Amino acid sequence: MKKVVKFGGSSLASAKQFRKVGSIIKSDESRRYVIPSAPGKRFFDDTKVTDMLYHCYYTAANGEDFEEQLNEIKERYNEIIDGLALTLCLDEDFEVIRKNFADRVGSDYAASRGEYLNGKIMAAYLEYEFIDAADVIRFDQDGVFEAEITNELLAARLKNCERAVIPGFYGATEDGNVRTFSRGGSDVTGSLVARAIQADLYENWTDVSGFLVTDPRIVKDPVAIESITYRELRELSYMGATVLHEEAIFPVRKEGIPINIKNTNKPEDEGTFIVESTCKKPKYTITGIAGKKGFCSIHVEKSLMNSEIGFGRRVLQVFEDNNISFEHMPSGIDTLTVYVNQDEFEDKEQQVIAGIHRLAAPDLLEMESELALIAVVGRGMKSNHGTASKIFGALAKANVNVKMIDQGSSEQNIIIGVKNRDFENAVKAIYAAFVK
Ligand code: ASP
Repeated sequence: MKKVVKFGGSSLASAKQFRKVGSIIKSDESRRYVIPSAPGKRFFDDTKVTDMLYHCYYTAANGEDFEEQLNEIKERYNEIIDGLALTLCLDEDFEVIRKNFADRVGSDYAASRGEYLNGKIMAAYLEYEFIDAADVIRFDQDGVFEAEITNELLAARLKNCERAVIPGFYGATEDGNVRTFSRGGSDVTGSLVARAIQADLYENWTDVSGFLVTDPRIVKDPVAIESITYRELRELSYMGATVLHEEAIFPVRKEGIPINIKNTNKPEDEGTFIVESTCKKPKYTITGIAGKKGFCSIHVEKSLMNSEIGFGRRVLQVFEDNNISFEHMPSGIDTLTVYVNQDEFEDKEQQVIAGIHRLAAPDLLEMESELALIAVVGRGMKSNHGTASKIFGALAKANVNVKMIDQGSSEQNIIIGVKNRDFENAVKAIYAAFVK
């Protein structure tokens, strides 16, 4: 059994957290490849080391004195090293970093040092081999990630390596220029390593006991999801629920490798399994609820629209011409409504109205703003009847006026449009109706 284990910044913010991570790894022989993030926040208003590195680099790039800022970063690492009673010394690494900052080698390089240094500490602490991600994660000259070359490099490098620490978040071009993924990208590295070694499981350790049914800022202490399919996860993440970097799903999905989201502070909790598909009956009919505010709708009416071939295409053409993507498009016999992101739409509003008049000659065009969309997602909906009535019954009881309903043909999700002001109440009502 081979497991890849990735630990997020809060799991590695201090020596105390490192110790927890160490005992998690040592408690299971199969946890062989470790992907650390940079040290995160130790307390609520602390600063992540990655952010400190970016700031420090901007100071250096502006030609200002960055000595003090770099020393503060060094302090963060030395505190961990001392707390773990390691003999490791990072002075030489910091000398190289100081020189590279002065030479303005780039902000990607700067940010990547957070993971690089934490990886060195982790390798020393576990007595595992350290593999620099710059040697095995490949980007092209434009900074575009190269999946297949990376897979080959990783597979070849790890073939005869029993145990290793590979820092997350970065890689390099063929000639050694360091490049990073977008923020939170250590999740992606973990997934790439899992794919390359064909791991049995990719464990992603964080500070919550899994992916929660809904946003804890709206519902107090929501329960964690036991298992979720990649597809359900896509739907929920698209609607704003975050637990993993979006791009972290694809490499493991290709190989059918499950991901287990786990809590470093409560390792005994099962966490959430993210899987390709499962026969396991979900505990509740719905898997998750997520949503976003800030949409508007453009409602178009035209008599006999149904028989006018190409009408829908012409309306959508206007959005495409203005470079606006649409979210949903429910339609009736003589009506069609397009939901778009308000921020994206506002500046181009008048061009779009004019365009629709020109291309589609509608009888009526109306707009409504300040709308929110809520996705209720669940593979269990297919085999349970009464889900819709339960959702809309709960919304009616909570006095929420439903503006739009859109059920995908997969029967895995129902999208509900409400006014922004009703958003939180709607989410609470749906949660309470399903999760007891
Ligand atoms: N340290 C990086 C960040 O803060 C990457 C990561 O933690 O995954 O975004």
